[in-house]
Amino acid sequence: MNLFKLVKESITVKQAAALYGLPITSTWITRCPFHEDHTPSMKLNDTYYYCFGCGATGDVIDLTARLFDLSSFQAARKIAQDFGFSPDKPPSGAIALPKPTTLSSDAQQEDIAYCIRVLHDYRDLLIRWQTEFVPLSAEEPLDDRFVEVLHMLAFVDVLIDCVTFGPASKKAAAAKRLLDSQLLPMVESRLNTLDRKEAA
Ligand SMILES: [Zn+2]
Repeated sequence: MNLFKLVKESITVKQAAALYGLPITSTWITRCPFHEDHTPSMKLNDTYYYCFGCGATGDVIDLTARLFDLSSFQAARKIAQDFGFSPDKPPSGAIALPKPTTLSSDAQQEDIAYCIRVLHDYRDLLIRWQTEFVPLSAEEPLDDRFVEVLHMLAFVDVLIDCVTFGPASKKAAAAKRLLDSQLLPMVESRLNTLDRKEAA
C-alpha cells in the first residue's frame, strides 16, 4: 500500500498534533506553531488543520512536514515510524503484535510503565464516561465529557499500543515522546482534578 495513503488513513491530524506536542484542548483549537499566535487560532480536524490567523492548512503529512521542516515523503515516513507501522506492516497488525524485546534500562522501563499506567487510568475514565454521559436523545446537547470520549478514546488506544507492544527501544522512544509532549501531563492533571473532586 502507498505510504502516503496509509499514513493519511491511519493517523489523524489530531493524533499527530498531540504526539508532536501541540497544546491540545477539548475544542481542538491550538496556538498556531507557524506564526506568532497569541490567541489560539488553529483548528485541528481529523483530516486537516486550518489557521484562522495565517491561513496555514493541510493534512497530517503537511503538518508534520512543516513542524519538522521535512519533505512530504520524509514526513510520511516519520509519522509511520513514530506511530510504529510501515507499508509492509499496516497499523492494526503491526502495533498489536508483541515482538521479542531487548531489555531497556531501568529508567526507560519506569517511563514506559508510568505512561501505561496513566493512559490506562485515563482510558478507564473515558470508558466510564462513554456510558455515563451518552446522550439519551438526538436533541440532547452533548456533554463535554462525552465529546472528550469521542475525540480521545481511539487515540488513547493507539498510544497504549505504542508503549505496550513492539521492541523495547521503540516503546522507550514512544514513552519519551509522550513525556516530552504536553499530552501526558494534561491527562494526569485531568485525572488528579477529578480524583480530588470525587474525594470531596
Ligand atoms: Zn497561523
